[in-house]
Amino acid sequence: MHVYTNPAGSGHSHGPGHTGGPGNSRATFESAHAGPDEARYEQAVAQFLSRYATSREHSSQELWAALDAACDALATSGAASEPQAKLLRDCVSRDIAQLASVLVRGDRREANAIARLAQQRGPLRLLVEALRLSGDAIYRLAGESGRVELRRAGEVTCAGTLSCPQCGATHRSTQSLLVMPCAGCGAAEHVKALQV
Ligand SMILES: [Zn+2]
Repeated sequence: MHVYTNPAGSGHSHGPGHTGGPGNSRATFESAHAGPDEARYEQAVAQFLSRYATSREHSSQELWAALDAACDALATSGAASEPQAKLLRDCVSRDIAQLASVLVRGDRREANAIARLAQQRGPLRLLVEALRLSGDAIYRLAGESGRVELRRAGEVTCAGTLSCPQCGATHRSTQSLLVMPCAGCGAAEHVKALQV
């Protein structure tokens, strides 16, 4: 379920019956139906986990190799184009790095938020499972993350909350979602938090 909140209080209703006005043609914030982008992301994560689970040492190198192989396989099978596979690799690696970073450096509240999200079936649960398999490699994975909290329109990401740094609008989703331009101001970049 997706929930869109505009703390600026523009007076518009974004309830289920909202059809959107000029400049707000995407009335999909409440949609529970995942599109092809989310489906490809979920395929990539599932293939990544099955490959990583059978790796010898569950090292961080093996983790990234499993992700590369999963995305390559999607391109080879025709399930994704080459550019889509490359983008998927970036999207999944950002989510892995952010999850690792929060699980290692985050506080109890953040860890609990991830545990709650991981109760639902979906990519976030599979990524948490991969990080559990990684053992001590999670520290290396967390260290490899840069500014992983930023997500751009056109990317797909696992469950969590996207906040617009420009206008403060937030978009919460308990499922993976295609990142859209901000419904409040059209900004492309969002800050991702692993809680809803
Ligand atoms: Zn905005």
